[in-house]
This record gives sequence, structure tokens and C-alpha cells, in this order.
Amino acid sequence: MRPIYLDHNATTPLSAEARAAMEPFLSGQFGNPLTSHRFGEGPRGAVEAARREVLALVGDAQGATYDVVFDSGGTEALNHVVKGLAFRSLEGGRAGARRKIVIGGAEHYGVAGPARWLGERFGFDVVEVMPGRDGVCPVEGFVEHLDGSTLLCALMWAQNEVGSLQPVREVGRFCRAQGVPFVVDTVQCPGKVDLSGAPEFADALAFSAHKLYGPKGVGALLLRKGLEPDILVHGASQESGRRGGTHNVAGIAGFGAAAHHARTGLAAEAARLASMRDQLWQEISRRIEGAHWNGAGAPMLPNTLNVSFDGCPSSLLAEETDRRGVAISQGAACRSGAVTPSHTLSAMGLPHSRSTTSVRVSFGHANDAHDAHAAADAFAESVKAVRARV
Ligand code: PLP
Repeated sequence: MRPIYLDHNATTPLSAEARAAMEPFLSGQFGNPLTSHRFGEGPRGAVEAARREVLALVGDAQGATYDVVFDSGGTEALNHVVKGLAFRSLEGGRAGARRKIVIGGAEHYGVAGPARWLGERFGFDVVEVMPGRDGVCPVEGFVEHLDGSTLLCALMWAQNEVGSLQPVREVGRFCRAQGVPFVVDTVQCPGKVDLSGAPEFADALAFSAHKLYGPKGVGALLLRKGLEPDILVHGASQESGRRGGTHNVAGIAGFGAAAHHARTGLAAEAARLASMRDQLWQEISRRIEGAHWNGAGAPMLPNTLNVSFDGCPSSLLAEETDRRGVAISQGAACRSGAVTPSHTLSAMGLPHSRSTTSVRVSFGHANDAHDAHAAADAFAESVKAVRARV
């Protein structure tokens, strides 16, 4: 049986278009984009073309609103902006007058990690606005905490585990009114969510090529012109001095091609992904007792389905579906026999019995309705097998 990959929120395969865009820079066109001689021309052109494609994702193809800083991916982009803004604000080596960092309660570790570390190391006050049971962080939770002492606010556009879309527009507009820089993790969005309204409310956005059928190890931070977080990677003059290090030209070219396809294919692909996701849930809910769609009812990424099955520890269930050729992601981790509940589901206030039994299915380009049906079969058999075991 052909294995079925349903873990696209973890990473995606490289598309043919991205691979083709990379090819010239893996062989003949090896020049450094910074060099002025002829060998630099092609690589430089590829980096600049990719920059325009990434900007086009947010409806800013001409770069009127944002500058792009190419880097190694989403985690670096988020670290750069969160730590960079904090470092710039230090007074005498400690958090200054603007000492509050307000973030969503289900952010990726790329935001939550630096924010908590800044709190421990430099004395920033970190406020996490917890999501409700639908996985959505309430706007009022941000409004309550945003004031003259707030250094920055961060909220992801789409939650990677549950798929819930966050009220970034509303929170962002409020941040603008308060003069608080608003950082948005858009890593899960390209090809699934229309980002073209971002310039109205987002001051910094993080992207990662490997989530949109581009290569791994390359991404970008988009910064509103005038927003200058401190530099994390000092070096030569690459990226206008904001991030040193010779460009990953092939990776950036692949990222550009992937961004182009994510943008131009969005409408058709989002509808197709949602139909597979809905088909799978219908089959699961019809055939399997004790299944719960986590985050149901919230605005949602079209490709993501997070389900808890009563009495089925996540890791055992993911192991069983994998044995049946269906690759999904487990929400809760199991280490040395102890189960660590999904931090996202715990933040949503779901009980232990739900947060230790959740799995995530995330559809992608290569999937079709047959895969959704095969996944439902695999779930039906696997749930039965796990329930017989525990
Ligand atoms: N933000 C979100 C929402 C993600 O899902 C991920 C990756 O899983 C990241 C950030 C980190 O991106 P990268 O893998 O490029 O470091």
C-alpha cells in the first residue's frame, strides 16, 4: 500500500516548481549575490525576484510597506523580532519602561520560547492570553493588557496544532492605536489563508519555506519599514545589514517559486483541502464512537483536523495508523511511559482525557478524496486496536 502523508503542518514535500527554481543555483550559477562581477548577477536577480514573491504573499509586491529579511526559517524570524525589539528597549541591561510582552497562549515555541526567556533573563513581564475551548484567543484578553508599558504583542495568524485562525485583524488594529508593534506568525498560512490584508495591521510577519512546498532551512521576516529590532546575526552587509551570512541562494529561489504557487493557487486549493478535511470528519463521526473535533466551530485552516478519541493515548493511536500506512501527528508526547498532554489543548482548557488523546491530521497538495477515505478506515481500525490494548 502507498503510504499516505497527512502531516503537512509539520512539513511539506518540495514541489517540482520549487526544485526547478533551485536547480540553476545548485550547479552552474554558484556566484555570491554580493559580488559585483558577472557571477553575482544571476544569483542576485534570483534573490530579488524571490523577495518580490514573498512580499506578494501579503499584497505588498512592490515593497511599499515591508522589508524582507531572508533567514533560516520561522523560528529564527520570530526570535529575531521578539528578542531584537526587547534588546533595543533595554535600559541599563534590564527591561525598561516598556517591559510588558503580550503573546497568545498557544503560540509556537518560536515566540513563547524567546518571550519566556526574556522574562527570566531581563525581567520583562510576559502575559499570555489563553485561548478559549475553540482554540481562539479572545480580543478582550489583549485589549486588557495593551497599554503604554507594552513593548510588543505577538499573535499567530493560524494555530499549527488545532488550526484555529486568530483575531489578528482586531488585535492588530488595537495595537496600532496603542503604538505597540504587532508580531504575527504566518508560518502555517501561505496557500491556505489569504494574507493580503496584513499591511493594515501587522508590523512583523514570519514565514518558513518548508511549510509551503519549498526547501527546509530558509524563511523570512517581514518588517514594516521603520521597525528596527536589534540584529541577532551580525556579519557582513547582507539583508541591508540586518542578518549577516552568505545567502542560501538556491533555498531562497525555491522559496520564491513556492510562494508564487501558494498565492496563485490559494482559492482552488483551500476549497479542495477543506472538502477532504470535512469528508474525513464526517466519516470519523459516523463510524467511530467517542470522537471529538478539537476547535470545531472556530474559523479554521482548511487542511487541519485535530481529533481526540476517548480512551486512545495519542502516541499509541499515531503508532497504529502509521502501521496502517497513514502518517499523522500526535498531539500529546509520551516519554518514558509518562504522557505529556498537548500544550495547546491544555491551554484551551480541555481536560486531561482530551489533551492526552488528540491527534492532528493535516492535508496537502498530493492528497485526494481516496486518502481521506483511507484515513477514515485507518482510524476506525486503529481506534479499535488501541481500545483493545489499553
Ligand atoms: N510557527 C509555526 C506556527 C509553526 O508551525 C512552525 C513550525 O512548525 C514554526 C513557527 C517554526 O518554523 P521553522 O520550522 O521554519 O523554524
